[in-house]
Amino acid sequence: MESSSFTTIAIVGAGTMGYGIGTVYAADGRTVRLYDASTEALEQARTNIDTALATLADAGRLSADDRSAITERISYHETIEEAVSDADLVTEAVTEDLEIKHEVFTRLNRYAPANAILATNTSGLSITDIASVVDDPGRVVGTHWFNPPHIVPLVEVVRGDQTSDTTVSRTYDLLEAVGKEPVEVKKDIPGFIGNRIQMAMDFEAWSLLQKGVASAEDIDRAVRAGFGFRVPVLGVFKKSDFTGLDVYEEVMSYLLKEIDRGTEPTESLRSLVEDGHYGVKTGHGVYDWEGADFDQLADERDQQLLAMLDAYEEAFAE
Ligand code: NAD
Repeated sequence: MESSSFTTIAIVGAGTMGYGIGTVYAADGRTVRLYDASTEALEQARTNIDTALATLADAGRLSADDRSAITERISYHETIEEAVSDADLVTEAVTEDLEIKHEVFTRLNRYAPANAILATNTSGLSITDIASVVDDPGRVVGTHWFNPPHIVPLVEVVRGDQTSDTTVSRTYDLLEAVGKEPVEVKKDIPGFIGNRIQMAMDFEAWSLLQKGVASAEDIDRAVRAGFGFRVPVLGVFKKSDFTGLDVYEEVMSYLLKEIDRGTEPTESLRSLVEDGHYGVKTGHGVYDWEGADFDQLADERDQQLLAMLDAYEEAFAE
């Protein structure tokens, strides 16, 4: 079946990720139905979608007419039955808790059309476990989006043990059709690809900070301006091929022993969290955000990410 057969998409859980995922589908002309167990969250999603559309319009990615058409294609529902009853695909983006996901998928099993694809945006729970409450686990798949979903290109399409080939290929084609860059993850492993690699890097950065090797500002700068600058162009393996695998293997053989192999968050991270310093949202984290306006910071971040997206699309235009 073609990706055009996905005319109606339901999103269950309209928080940080749900509203942005809904925005992407609606921007591609699909009818989007949003449901959240919290009425306030649903109302907030409406505001967040307006802001996301304004950001995309400011970046020249949408016209005023596009904006109003997209807004009209999105509806907000107070019951899950109403939101999913005619959906071709449901994306679940509720709280990361297996019990809550099971409760939602039990209801999707009951209320969504029998041929609808049921996708979960879980960051790391097992797709196979989540699918276990559905009569046909072949139609359950992971679609792991990255925040903010209406800007970051990647979506990991994750196979559970019983996900059917058709479910994977239809989901992949749909994501490509809506302008995303899907990647198939063939095994249902915690963290999939992106979060595993990012966590390996993050852990070493926290370890270097704890050891006093450099300031947080300078570690961030080394990431952004050095190897991070190359990453969007070369990834890991292309970069290694340019380095020369002989040299690369030699560096790996002595450096691996030096890399922190800890299995718990660093003390510096633990103590920040214990002191209630969660980052931008509390005004203090690794950096001092005292007095900063969260929405304004998020907007600045999105503008910078959109500038990167322009460059990324231009560099890889076919
Ligand atoms: P969030 O807390 O912002 O939103 C979750 C929403 O789910 C809330 O609005 C909540 O009211 C709603 N909810 C809870 N139980 C529900 C239920 N039974 N039925 C309907 N709605 C319910 O969380 P988030 O950051 O959007 O994360 C959602 C999912 O996406 C999680 O699985 C998370 O791991 C994953 N994810 C998050 C990010 C991220 O950067 N935040 C990135 C990738 C994946």
